[in-house]
Amino acid sequence: MARARKRSTAARRRRPLRRRLKRLAQGQILALDDRRIPLIYKKNSLAHRIILRLDQSAGNIVVVLPRRASRAQGRRFAYTNRSWIRERLNLLPEGIPFAPGKLLPFLGEPHRIRHRPKARGVVWCADGEIHVAGRVEHLARRVEDWLKLEARREIAEVAHAKAALIGKLVKRVRIRDPKTRWASCSGSGELAFSWRLMLAPKFVLDYVVAHEVAHLREMNHGPRFWRLVAELTRDVKKARAWLADHGLELHRYGRGGQPAPSESATA
Ligand SMILES: [Zn+2]
Repeated sequence: MARARKRSTAARRRRPLRRRLKRLAQGQILALDDRRIPLIYKKNSLAHRIILRLDQSAGNIVVVLPRRASRAQGRRFAYTNRSWIRERLNLLPEGIPFAPGKLLPFLGEPHRIRHRPKARGVVWCADGEIHVAGRVEHLARRVEDWLKLEARREIAEVAHAKAALIGKLVKRVRIRDPKTRWASCSGSGELAFSWRLMLAPKFVLDYVVAHEVAHLREMNHGPRFWRLVAELTRDVKKARAWLADHGLELHRYGRGGQPAPSESATA
């Protein structure tokens, strides 16, 4: 573990430092105390002034620029409002990065992340642990990619089975990372789900899939829709309560954990 960490620090210093300095110079990162906050610029021709918005799940600050405003103006605005940004960020629940030793609730069950630098393979789950091969600086991305793959496999299987029960066909299952919803259903039979559902207990995932599959027949939230959902899954009430109580926690995972080296912003 100690060796892995040392290697990671060395690698971090060596390789992406230039890229990070470039991003800092371009105003894509705001240095705030010892934190480095990514700034995401978005043009919006309807905006009358520069607006700052906190992207809760990503921990980013979105700088909304009206048509005539430049990025440089946006960056200055973010800089002069850094106490607002600091306050908002302090209210956020702390991120839980995908890192060696961290606990991950895979299908609701706690699994520890184990770095296996010498092992073959990529990511695998065994004995209640998630093993990740390869260099430590790739670990976080590998864990996330693996969760997305697992989500596609698991969710597609459940979705096709449930759709068959009501004589419908799922055209496609997409895996995404939406900020405010867990899933969606298009009129053409495409379903989209958040990979973060893989961190929830199985009955929650089952409910969310049942909900979207039911939309293949009922594109509304009327009594007939809810009767159909109840036919497709068991714990509707329990699952909805779980999401209301714990949903936001799922957005903590894979966030944070990039310690700041000796960089500072000059504005
Ligand atoms: Zn719905």
